[in-house]
Amino acid sequence: MTVEEVAALVRPNIAGLCPYSTARDEMQGKPDIFLDANESPYPNGWNRYPDPHQQELKALLGGIKGIAPEKIFFGNGSDEAIDLIFRVFCTPGKDNAVAIAPSYGMYKVAAVINDVECREVLLEDDFTLDAEKLIAACDARSKVIFLCSPNNPSGNAFPLEQIREILARFKGIVVVDEAYIDFCSQPSASSLIDLYPNLIILQTCSKARGMAALRLGIALSNAYVIRLMSMVKYPYNINLATQQLAKELLSQPIDAQVREVISERARVSEAFGHFDCIEKVYPSEANFILVKAKDADALYNYLLDKKIIVRNRTNVPGCRNCLRITIGLKEENDRLLAAMKEFI
Ligand SMILES: *Cc1c(COP(=O)(O)O)cnc(C)c1O
Repeated sequence: MTVEEVAALVRPNIAGLCPYSTARDEMQGKPDIFLDANESPYPNGWNRYPDPHQQELKALLGGIKGIAPEKIFFGNGSDEAIDLIFRVFCTPGKDNAVAIAPSYGMYKVAAVINDVECREVLLEDDFTLDAEKLIAACDARSKVIFLCSPNNPSGNAFPLEQIREILARFKGIVVVDEAYIDFCSQPSASSLIDLYPNLIILQTCSKARGMAALRLGIALSNAYVIRLMSMVKYPYNINLATQQLAKELLSQPIDAQVREVISERARVSEAFGHFDCIEKVYPSEANFILVKAKDADALYNYLLDKKIIVRNRTNVPGCRNCLRITIGLKEENDRLLAAMKEFI
């Protein structure tokens, strides 16, 4: 697809939108005296509005990821980016989106909130994706496909070749949610954003980056799509505390933590394989493991009793009797394993 073809997907009201702008956008550099935004003049560290364009944070993240700042969008969590994708591209009551199942629940929730039909394409028994089925579920009103890779809750990643095939065949936006990419053995699809104007990558500071409480989601795409999302967002969607703390935390390396989680994932997966209460351990490229238990509800309640909370996915399509278990600290994983060993 070309950028012009992507532009043709945009909702007419958004294509014609004149976004909110601030007086500070009209000035080069920093003013000496701020009399434009009705703020309190008494300094307490927080009395000024934050940068609505998050320029310093984009420069920092762009440097880390090797991506130009104009190809980066920050949201109040990835969830804001998901909602904005619906608001930019999908006309309520008319357009539809297509997601895989089982997958992250927010695609469907955001679709329903926006009055957009969300079609779900079931993954195969081993959670691989049949691209033909996905494409067959789309029609002329399908504006967005949501892929999650590595997928939550199954933990597997879809091959880049398959993502490229879908990008080439689908005449709409393809969102690849890479919330768990730091734990994945395969490279990010973000290298494809210059090749496919219909690609949006979602990442987040909530998982490997350890900033779930700060709410900082990331979208990567071409400058045109990023401009559209930025036009529709609330002007001050990323507060100053988040911008400041994220700058500090992004400068700290996470490699050692990620390596430890990956090695714990291997250790815990192997141990799960020896428990009678577990029927199947699915391979994971993320910081969690999906297991099929003999009786998920019983095991879940037993662990709750031991003050260990995991995610019960038994009522999710394709996940009967499945629990999704996050990799914790080594001592925490040991406690989980000890508890499970005693479960009959
Ligand atoms: C956890 C998660 C996110 C992160 O959401 P935030 O709003 O950024 O915290 C996004 N996508 C998937 C698939 C996730 O599992």
